[in-house]
Amino acid sequence: DNMKTQNLNEIINKVLPMLQADAYNNNKEVIVDLNILPDILINENEIKQLILNLVRNGLEATDEHGQVRISTYLNEDKVVLAIKDQGQGIPQEVQEKIGTPFFTTKDSGTGLGLAISMGIAQRHGAMFEFKTGPQGTVFYTMFSIRNHM
Ligand code: ADP
Ligand code: MG
Repeated sequence: DNMKTQNLNEIINKVLPMLQADAYNNNKEVIVDLNILPDILINENEIKQLILNLVRNGLEATDEHGQVRISTYLNEDKVVLAIKDQGQGIPQEVQEKIGTPFFTTKDSGTGLGLAISMGIAQRHGAMFEFKTGPQGTVFYTMFSIRNHM
C-alpha cells in the first residue's frame, strides 16, 4: 500500500513551495518549525494530501497578513505534525460535524478535506485531534514511531 520508511520533514519541504505561493497570493504566510525526527512509515501522496488539506483550511480561516505555522516535533514516542492558524476558531456546532463528508460552511467548499484527512491519519495508525479557540485552531496528527503495518 505504498508505505515507505521516510522522514515527515522531507515531505513537508516538498509541498512547502506550493503552499507558500498559495499563501503569498492571498497576502498570508506559511511558516515552518521543523525539528529533527526519526523516519516513520508514510504513504507520501496521502500525507502530502493531508498537509495540503489542513494548511489550506488554515489559510482560509486566517485573515490577510496572518500566518499558518507547520510544526513538527517528537513527543515521547510520537512524531507530531501540528498545523496552526490564526483564525477565529471552529464554532461548537461545526466542531460536532468535523469529519462528516460534504459538511462545509464555505460557499464553494467540498466539505471533504477533513474527512479525507481523517481517513489518511487512520490508515497511518495516527491520532488526529484539534484544539480550537478564539485565537485560532491547531490540527495535530500524531504518528507512532513504531507504526510497522
Ligand atoms: P471545506 O474546506 O471544503 O469546507 P473541510 O472538510 O476541509 O471542507 O472543512 C469542513 C469545515 O470545517 C469547513 O467548512 C469549516 O467550517 C471548518 N473548518 C475546517 N478547518 C477549519 C479551521 N482551520 N478553522 C475554522 N474552521 C475550519
Ligand atoms: Mg477544506
